[in-house]
Amino acid sequence: MDQRLLDTYGGPVPRYTSYPTAPQFHGGVGPRAYADWLRALGPGDGPVSLYLHIPYCRELCTYCGCTTKITRRYSPVAAYVADLTAEIDLVAGHLAAPLAVSQVHFGGGTPNILGADDFQALMGDLRRVFAFGPATETAVEIDPRLLTGDMAQAMAAAGVTRVSIGVQDLNEDVQQAINRVQPLFVVRRAVDMLHAAGIDQINLDLMYGLPLQTVDHVLSTVDRASELGAQRIALFGYAHVPWMKTHQRLLDHLPRADTLGRFEQAEAAAERLARYGYRRIGLDHFATPGDSLAQALEGGRLHRNFQGYTTDTAEVLLAFGASAIGQLPGGYVQNASDAGTYGRRVQDGDLATVKGLVLDDEDRRRRALIERLMCDMTVDLRRFGGVGAYGAELARLRSMADDGLVRVEGEKITVPEDARPLMRAVAAVFDAYLAPPGAPPVARHSLAV
Ligand code: SF4
Repeated sequence: MDQRLLDTYGGPVPRYTSYPTAPQFHGGVGPRAYADWLRALGPGDGPVSLYLHIPYCRELCTYCGCTTKITRRYSPVAAYVADLTAEIDLVAGHLAAPLAVSQVHFGGGTPNILGADDFQALMGDLRRVFAFGPATETAVEIDPRLLTGDMAQAMAAAGVTRVSIGVQDLNEDVQQAINRVQPLFVVRRAVDMLHAAGIDQINLDLMYGLPLQTVDHVLSTVDRASELGAQRIALFGYAHVPWMKTHQRLLDHLPRADTLGRFEQAEAAAERLARYGYRRIGLDHFATPGDSLAQALEGGRLHRNFQGYTTDTAEVLLAFGASAIGQLPGGYVQNASDAGTYGRRVQDGDLATVKGLVLDDEDRRRRALIERLMCDMTVDLRRFGGVGAYGAELARLRSMADDGLVRVEGEKITVPEDARPLMRAVAAVFDAYLAPPGAPPVARHSLAV
């Protein structure tokens, strides 16, 4: 891919883990709408997914783009666990009947900052309110530096089936630069603890585009990470957004790859992972052929949600915790971002929703289309209203087709393999909320590459 294409199409675009995207949420959707949507849920809506956000970490990684707070003390975490329990009970109070659960995901922040007892208590709260079955999958994101054998055993005992380990880069100079020093042996020790506890499904989260990172850094990280036997590897691009994450200013003085350099890092890693036998999935995921994510891709059953690419088919996501975003048939809801505000709300007996979005049929149609494009890299417009519904979009796709970013054959739109890194730019053509071409770039999203 040449510099001109990256300059033209590599600008800021959403990651499309939801559509419409979070910047469209507004304060017109609050606790009352969420309560109504919860009351309307029933078995006909299928099993639901659950997400719990743990917005605490022990130390600040200077590249961090998450909603989190740094604490050396456990008391804020313990108070937050009580808030989560209060919210679980509140939500349960609005449900007509216990709902079956397909997947549970703990994200952060650092979920394994929770004490083993608190983690098990939270899982107990969820099991008390929702119907877990043998097929329910539970995944937890962890910081390997904080993992203890007790926590690994507690997660296994509570039914955790998959763990995602934050790795980013395994080179000391990069780790020092981003204030996340965790040599390979720390990651290996975490993998060994999980295996010893009986948790065998391991994801590793890597990054490219970090300060000081070169292609060699990324490749040596991939080489060493591949020895750990992970079934899934995610490779995310670092988003430098110091106007939103002010601590990232600490990284301003360090060299970072430009768009072409980022592209070269990502593609070198992808090639190396393919050599190690990983299947490339969507924008930024890789999985061994036997993994359920690779099989979902084969079977046209891959999905994309707030956690990225997933096998989860649930249409409903109930989200708990500060800043957590839920998805219901009626629309999206987001809790207060600040843990203090969130806690006061739920302890006062109120849902903590501060914004959201009501979905209409057009949103649902475009959401389904964008999801298929981001998962399968191809869509048949006949499934989404036909070409007649997308005149302006097809006109915009014409110049992309001339540049090799997309193939338009009748009603079929396909992103060729060469253009995979720019699939977000193609998906953005179908985003009815983005500024039209020629308008100033939307800087609140990360770069397409
Ligand atoms: S552990 Fe993750 S969430 Fe916490 S500061 Fe580091 S990058 Fe951010």
